Amino acid sequence: MSSENPAYGGGEMRSVGTAIIGAGMSGLVMGIRLKQAGRPFVILEKAESVGGTWRENTYPGLSCDVPSFFYSLSFEPNLDWSHRFSPGAEILAYFENIAGKYGLEGDISFGQAVTDARFEDGSWTIQTSDGETIRADFLVDATGPLHIKNYPQILGLDRFEGVQFHSAAWDHGVPLEGKRIGVVGNGSTGVQMMAPLSKAASDLTMFQRTPQWIFPIGNRPYTERERAWKRRLPILGRITRTFYKTIFDRASAGVVEDGMWRRRMARGCREHLEAVEDPALRAKLKPDYQPGCKRLILSTDFYPTLAKEHVHLVTEGIDHIEPGGIVTEDGKLHELDVLVLATGFRAHEWGIANVVGKEGLSLKEAWAQGPRTYRSVTMPGFPNFFMIVGPNSPIGNISIIDVSETQTRYILDCIERIGREPGKVLAPKREAAEKFQTDLREAMKSTIWVTGCNSWYVDPEGTPTLWPWPAHEFHRVMAKPDFADFEFLEATSLAATSGNARPARIAPD
Ligand code: NAP
Repeated sequence: MSSENPAYGGGEMRSVGTAIIGAGMSGLVMGIRLKQAGRPFVILEKAESVGGTWRENTYPGLSCDVPSFFYSLSFEPNLDWSHRFSPGAEILAYFENIAGKYGLEGDISFGQAVTDARFEDGSWTIQTSDGETIRADFLVDATGPLHIKNYPQILGLDRFEGVQFHSAAWDHGVPLEGKRIGVVGNGSTGVQMMAPLSKAASDLTMFQRTPQWIFPIGNRPYTERERAWKRRLPILGRITRTFYKTIFDRASAGVVEDGMWRRRMARGCREHLEAVEDPALRAKLKPDYQPGCKRLILSTDFYPTLAKEHVHLVTEGIDHIEPGGIVTEDGKLHELDVLVLATGFRAHEWGIANVVGKEGLSLKEAWAQGPRTYRSVTMPGFPNFFMIVGPNSPIGNISIIDVSETQTRYILDCIERIGREPGKVLAPKREAAEKFQTDLREAMKSTIWVTGCNSWYVDPEGTPTLWPWPAHEFHRVMAKPDFADFEFLEATSLAATSGNARPARIAPD
């Protein structure tokens, strides 16, 4: 069905049941669920291929620090992972295969970035970068928090005469052999790339602003024999998955409540640091906050890499950048040929900025004081709108795929429920969202994220935007929507509010 809307120039409009923004892992899972349920949908993807974060991040040493048997879909096990923490390219291939297996490519509009989506006349009107207007009954934002690159504001960055790029835009055309390489940032990304870069560089310098705790878990390859056994006996893959899910879900409780897991995490990190032989290096690496406050980094090769003769850890602040390299606050010029900005993402610019709800308010405006969702997936005032891995989702050292699966099931339940009420749309009640927010604030007090550190987990107001309860609680609460917390609105009665002023368009990323 197509319709005409003079507000958009009167052109033909594509009508879809559900529009999903993003063909990363979450968008693909949502697509699979809708396909299995026989519901029409389209996935709008800004790039030309699937994979999201695994398409964009290709830096040396990239792997997922959640074990592969757990970091995969429960209903699509891969029995042939190469490593405990398999490389990024292997994970990307896994998602590409899944997209192919479920025939999702035909459901994806590639090269279509959503620039504007507003709820009007009882449904969503979506504008894309190529000028198309799409009407959808349901809108699912599956863009995730880690896709807008954070470029640091460092004086002179644009004057650097060597090669520079962000870690999520790696230029593989740049030779690294024998080069003087600088890495700004020591988060999960910076740490992962150090060992492989040290093998190529003549000189490698990491610029560290804040030390990080590192928990030692090695990444071992699976032997050909182990892989053959798993291929022959798929139950071994399921056992491995259950083992890692149990460990990682339980251990993740350490960040939200005091107890054995928190103590174990702290002990593991401290013992790992104490094993660094050089006392000067050890002192530079020692954080002054609790392990787990920032996202815990898992590595056994980072400290040994820093101990290499040609690898340096600079803890003096960066003063500015000159054509020849980085100048630190002590006036020293660190000459570089290649500068890598492993400076993370603007994680709090969730989704696309200009999703506009039924009251004419954009998400950006509604979240001026920080995100205010109902159970991370829905928003009062935004009917038939859902987020996957939205604010306050459980993010951290657990499988985000597992989280996505639970959220997509929940969203599908909502879509099916409202589908049985023709002419109606669904949104969470404001009181339900407020109660959720009050509960979140209370629970945040016992999390480790509020114990005195800065990270992308915390919004500009200082509030963590994560799920402050254990993983099992997330799966329990999200197992089924509690429809008493939702209101079912007559779509036609909302037409009156649809003539609301259109806020100025905000340029897409
Ligand atoms: P990140 O954790 O946000 O780290 C950014 C780093 O850049 C920090 O060390 C930060 O220092 C530094 N930085 C930022 N601006 C700076 C500036 N102006 N001057 C100097 N230093 C600056 O980013 P990330 O390492 O890319 O990781 C982001 C997230 O991606 C992770 O937490 C994780 O969720 C995900 N990730 C996962 C994996 C995995 O294996 N699963 C791998 C990579 C990434 P401060 O600490 O002082 O702010």
